[in-house]
Amino acid sequence: MIKVEDLRKNFGKLEVLKGITTSIKEREVVAIIGPSGSGKSTFLRCMNMLEVPTSGRIWIGSSEITDKKTNINKVRENVGMVFQHFHLFPHKTVLQNLTYGPMKVKGLSKAEAEKIGYELLERVGLFEKAGEYPGRLSGGQKQRVAIARALAMKPEVMLFDEPTSALDPEMVKEVLEVMKSLAHTGMTMAIVTHEMGFAREVADRVLFLDGGVLVEDAAPEQFFSNPKSKRAQEFLQKML
Ligand code: ADP
Ligand code: MG
Repeated sequence: MIKVEDLRKNFGKLEVLKGITTSIKEREVVAIIGPSGSGKSTFLRCMNMLEVPTSGRIWIGSSEITDKKTNINKVRENVGMVFQHFHLFPHKTVLQNLTYGPMKVKGLSKAEAEKIGYELLERVGLFEKAGEYPGRLSGGQKQRVAIARALAMKPEVMLFDEPTSALDPEMVKEVLEVMKSLAHTGMTMAIVTHEMGFAREVADRVLFLDGGVLVEDAAPEQFFSNPKSKRAQEFLQKML
């Protein structure tokens, strides 16, 4: 579903991604972990061209997004993204947050978009908040709306960048539960997270980044119980 070949990204002289090669299969859930500043967000953002790679190639499905001829907006419709800080439209209701993209980008009628919107709100446990404005929701509720909004576009891939890092501890679980149930539907997911328990339980694979290098690419069991690299060992010691 996703293929990344020798991906490099520099910001000026700073080399942030130093040649990453990996792939993510359809229905696979991949946790991306590593120290702060290791390039996790940059890596994720390259996967829908929110950052333009300095070199290397990336394919989403059969589209090479790093090919200048590819219509990136078309690809992005297929790649949902959820951020640490929600990025909801503050002046739209919860339901309008969900219907905006499908109506504007996909040309769905209001009725069609609302039907999908209500179904998704039901799925994330927020049906009764449809008419509410984001400002009146808790952080956990906002993030569940953000996930539902991304799903409303019917993406083939979902990217999550530390979706629970900005939440109060008591709200982390409700968001992880939604992500877990999404994983069980067979969604292809790449998740940057510091939730090691979640990564271990839900991910099919762990990518460990350090200093812009993909240091380990392993099954969770293997990674958490027996990390190969010294850098991963040290990281896990601090995290667990
Ligand atoms: P992580 O998500 O693992 O914490 P990031 O991908 O956000 O790491 O950042 C990796 C490095 O790239 C950091 O040193 C960060 O300061 C730098 N960086 C990220 N985005 C930019 C940018 N837009 N301009 C300049 N430097 C950036
Ligand atoms: Mg980050």
